[in-house]
Amino acid sequence: MLNPDPVLSDLRQARETFWLNPKLTPITEADYGHPLTAAMIDDAEARLRRFAPFIRACFPETEAAGGLIESELTPTPAMQQAMPCPIPGRMFLKRDADLPIAGSVKARGGIYEVLKHTEDLAQAAGILTPDSDYSVLRDHRDFFRQYKMQVGSTGNLGMSIGIMSAAIGYQAIVHMSADARQWKKDLLRSHGVTVYEYEGDYSAAVKEGRALSDADPKSYFVDDENSVDLFLGYAVAAGRTKAQLDAMGIPVDREHPLFVYIPCGVGGAPGGVTFGMK
Ligand SMILES: *Cc1c(COP(=O)(O)O)cnc(C)c1O
Repeated sequence: MLNPDPVLSDLRQARETFWLNPKLTPITEADYGHPLTAAMIDDAEARLRRFAPFIRACFPETEAAGGLIESELTPTPAMQQAMPCPIPGRMFLKRDADLPIAGSVKARGGIYEVLKHTEDLAQAAGILTPDSDYSVLRDHRDFFRQYKMQVGSTGNLGMSIGIMSAAIGYQAIVHMSADARQWKKDLLRSHGVTVYEYEGDYSAAVKEGRALSDADPKSYFVDDENSVDLFLGYAVAAGRTKAQLDAMGIPVDREHPLFVYIPCGVGGAPGGVTFGMK
């Protein structure tokens, strides 16, 4: 028996639909049944700031932002005018397609996870202490060269993980599904990343990549669907956006609600971003 819910029925027939969460609850009352907290997002933001001197030294395009990987929040009045129904308030585009280094929202979560793992390895080896200037990592490429960083990707996740991993010194391996664009494979190879190509879809590339990585104790696999670090890296976007709204004098509160429209694939990126926003 198919579930008679009208929203599910619309989805089954590929009809445009809209769903409002009937269990919408304030963040202070919601019990998510998971251990993630706002303090963990703050911790991720602090970690990205520790890495900023290193990022700035490796990627000159982050110079102006002091090594932070961030995008502009641009007013889009013409687009707002062109919408099929009136949209009150002001409309903005958060331009994560312009994020430096990887050119997609994956530059938040993907790069963050690589940096988190790097900090763990470097602290255990005595290369980094909490007081270090993290640009010192540039002198330790040989240390990271003994480790592999692997990921399965249709393209953008591989770009963020591959480019940052190669910059640190890892042997970076990206397992690409058949739908990945050629220019992304070429760009990764130009950074010294190994690209394996698979006939199958994304899940086939993930399965192969994970199996190869799990068989190697010095290999780390970035798990797009289950990684907490990836999720927390995405969540950092919320505080950054809030700072941009604050700087423009735009309040967000009960009288001035913020509606966020966000494209969703597997859900890791929008899950993290909306968790941070909430
Ligand atoms: C990955 C990605 C998304 C969606 O993220 P998911 O975590 O797969 O839902 C949206 N837009 C772009 C450009 C992406 O690379």
